[in-house]
Amino acid sequence: YPQVDILGVKFTKITNHELLEQLKKDSLLHKNRFVVTANPEIVLFARQNPKYTSILNTADYTTADGIGIIKGARILNRPLPERVTGYDTLLALLSFANEQQKRVYFLGAQPTVITKMIAKIKRKYPKLIIAGYHDGYFRDEEAVAHDIRQAAPDFVFVALGFPKQEFFIDTYRHSSQAIWMGVGGSFDVLAG
Ligand code: UDP
Repeated sequence: YPQVDILGVKFTKITNHELLEQLKKDSLLHKNRFVVTANPEIVLFARQNPKYTSILNTADYTTADGIGIIKGARILNRPLPERVTGYDTLLALLSFANEQQKRVYFLGAQPTVITKMIAKIKRKYPKLIIAGYHDGYFRDEEAVAHDIRQAAPDFVFVALGFPKQEFFIDTYRHSSQAIWMGVGGSFDVLAG
């Protein structure tokens, strides 16, 4: 897919449907993938942090999570097809994981939130395999990374907020042939 540069961040020209089909294919082929759904806050933060920008630009797919990015892209004459949010993508991938009995690891949010969310996931997606989970307030990052590796996940959803989640994914993504995606505050929403 072609890319367009918005203030230094390379966005992928991709629709919701295309991204989903691509990720399903990638997952079935056990590809290692990094998905970023970037909102305006992420782009502004990246402007002041070259290290973060370079990590974002190693993502396999970077989508516009926010109408501000779509509008900005149009003004810069580098239009992006549509808004592709982290939350919608997460829900679609959970459905896919359920249909295909894929293994999913959930990392992030407060301990009470993730426990509630896991209970809801079990009810709503009974065939999805919960490969493992951990709250997002840990001291020993290596231990968490080890737990993820042991879980052999097909999907790793990281809800540590930006920029933490992207730094974490950048450091550990090659430990599992999985689809890795930062999902911000999505676990709080899913926990209801
Ligand atoms: N979070 C976490 N560990 C941290 C900091 C944040 O697990 O050290 C979680 C927090 O509990 C929340 C999410 O990360 O579930 C951040 O949500 P927010 O809506 O702020 O995400 P953003 O839009 O900033 O990426």
